[in-house]
Amino acid sequence: PLVLAIETSCDETSVAVVRGREVLANEIASQIPIHRLFGGVVPEIASRKHLEAVDGVVNAALETAGIGLGDLDGIAVTYGPGLVGALLTGVTAAKALAFALDTPLVGVHHIEGHIAANYVQDPELIPPFLCLVVSGGHTHLVKVLDYGVYELMGRTRDDAAGEAFDKVARVLGLPYPGGPSVEQAARAGNAKAFSFPRAFRGEDHLDFSFSGVKTAVINEVNRLHQKDNPLPVADLAASFQETVVDTLVRNTLRAVDRSRMKRVALAGGVAANGALRARMKAALSAKGVQLTVPAPILCTDNGAMIGCAGAYKLKAGNIAGLDLNAVPSLELVTQY
Ligand code: ATP
Ligand code: FE
Ligand code: MG
Repeated sequence: PLVLAIETSCDETSVAVVRGREVLANEIASQIPIHRLFGGVVPEIASRKHLEAVDGVVNAALETAGIGLGDLDGIAVTYGPGLVGALLTGVTAAKALAFALDTPLVGVHHIEGHIAANYVQDPELIPPFLCLVVSGGHTHLVKVLDYGVYELMGRTRDDAAGEAFDKVARVLGLPYPGGPSVEQAARAGNAKAFSFPRAFRGEDHLDFSFSGVKTAVINEVNRLHQKDNPLPVADLAASFQETVVDTLVRNTLRAVDRSRMKRVALAGGVAANGALRARMKAALSAKGVQLTVPAPILCTDNGAMIGCAGAYKLKAGNIAGLDLNAVPSLELVTQY
């Protein structure tokens, strides 16, 4: 089906046109330069910017795809989780379009969208597979049993991986968003310069915790400041990144062993991280397990992933009513 998808859960206004897994347009109006001035996303500004941008981005997507509104089989939209005001902008725009065009409306879980980025990336990928979701607000190990059928094997008990990157970037004086800044700084650093704690060593579960490593970095920065030493930003960034990547790879390998899955996928903004991609690929190929990783533009927030997930829900007949509302803390459960 030909689907127009709207994603406004955080700081990217994105509209895509997809035909199933095929992306005809994936327009992204990023608010990153504005939020960078404040060192992070300011929710009120995000809502306002989405409102200003959404009509123009819809038109741009239609133009790029070379189709008209009348050609669409459905409208998909992220309805949670995310910032409530930001989500509401997209949900309202999607409902208006669905009503005016008398075409089906599909509500998509943002994380289900991140997972579906892998279907866009690899047209051959079919469930079951294991997916490590690493984004700004989530760190999930998910068994994807079928389209829309998920089983959570592990999750973070405190900070998400992306959140830890963003907070560490802040104390190191690196610009928002922190992930790309830390990755860039880490390239010139020694990953063994500092030894930061890894959570849950020796424990028998698949959960994550990143607040310990984050606090260890903050303490180290404070200690160095007190001694008036110059901050070894590259070494701190490299050592932090190494600790996080190591934990993510270790738990993923353990989940592979437990689930006996032969295929792994990565999803979410942190999946754009080169160190994680390289380490995961090496660790999994040593076990004969295949890895799918979305292109970086499909890792961070985008409409194409929402459209692809939406197309599957539409095919399954999972249609939302025009009373669809934004749900800021929507849980990832089996959708249909
Ligand atoms: P969620 O998807 O959980 O609702 P979100 O939508 O804000 O959160 P994403 O857009 O999926 O998160 O990803 C953004 C996060 O990814 C930020 O925390 C950002 O720092 C991180 N990130 C982006 N690129 C990289 C990178 N190259 N290395 C590490 N982290 C990265
Ligand atoms: Fe996201
Ligand atoms: Mg983002």
